[in-house]
Amino acid sequence: MPKKKEQPQSGPTLWGTDLPFISLKPFVPTRAYLPLAQADTLSPKALEKVPGFTYKPLPEPLNTIEYAPGTSLKQYGNYEILHTTPESNTWSAQGLDAPFIVSLSGGLGSAVAAERAIQKNGRENILLWFADVKKENADLYRFVHDVMDRFGGRLYYFTDGRRPEDVWDKRKIVPNNQIAPCFYELKVKPFRNFIQAMNHLPVVYIGYKPGEDERMSSTTASYKEAIPEVTVDYPLLWRSAETRDLVAVCEEELGIQAPLLYKLGYEYNNCGGECCRAGITSWVRTAESFPRRFDHMEDWETEARNQGDARANYTIAARSREGKKQPLPLSQIKEEYVPQAETLYQREQTKRENARRRLQDKP
Ligand code: SF4
Repeated sequence: MPKKKEQPQSGPTLWGTDLPFISLKPFVPTRAYLPLAQADTLSPKALEKVPGFTYKPLPEPLNTIEYAPGTSLKQYGNYEILHTTPESNTWSAQGLDAPFIVSLSGGLGSAVAAERAIQKNGRENILLWFADVKKENADLYRFVHDVMDRFGGRLYYFTDGRRPEDVWDKRKIVPNNQIAPCFYELKVKPFRNFIQAMNHLPVVYIGYKPGEDERMSSTTASYKEAIPEVTVDYPLLWRSAETRDLVAVCEEELGIQAPLLYKLGYEYNNCGGECCRAGITSWVRTAESFPRRFDHMEDWETEARNQGDARANYTIAARSREGKKQPLPLSQIKEEYVPQAETLYQREQTKRENARRRLQDKP
């Protein structure tokens, strides 16, 4: 598809001088974070899977307009990024009329969904919105820029300022695949605030893949409850449903190098392989590929469980024994499961291939 260079969308107040949020203070973290440069250093084992891989520096903006701390417009040739904060997120949505919006996650599903949505409706009718939780792998940011270079126009780029750990600490929980308030607080809630501040509610496009039926029903139900008037749609289900390997679709059809995490075997690209909803094999992969990230989460989990409250009974990961779910600390994953890494990867690969075959065989 040829690149489009439509004028970026803007709200009527964007260029005004009335910035009501300018005096609000940004969130100040209470704990030290693992610097991303250290976090993303690949182990020798991971480098064997992506020989010669190096992180690419992000493009420099040609022009930057500062509105307030954390709120600025960065222009990069055929695309631009409007950075917003909790204070300026809804302000940036005022006056917007686009009929469709895609929440880009930095992963392949939402990027390919956006591609399909643009091909169907035209770039000028689609808003793109992204939330940065500040612990992504560096290659995710390169991917976001490459995607924008293809799509052109504006990306609304929201940064809360908190990281997932800040949300978990505040709530005094150890998160897991049942309880992950970081996702809601740092991504879903600000996205919903954004669309509700627009002139009209747009149709929300989400990049879930065929087969992710449970996620789709729970997302549709959640929107029905929170914003009943909104329509949620899943472009990867449109005919013909996208059941191919998204790495190949991204590289061969969009001409964009897929994010590093997928090349290392992950099925997602968020939080640098530290997602609190990930399963055992994914944690084994993080222990092997990004040992600093794994150690950071292991330390966080140990510290949280030692606070002398209900957190002691919970862990990020879990396993089933005799039909019962049991907590499984990351330290135990390192001890028991990392030595069986290759078997686990093989098993996971077979499962994925079987699932894809079943989907492709569906009439
Ligand atoms: S990727 Fe996982 S840990 Fe990160 S914000 Fe989303 S749910 Fe939370």
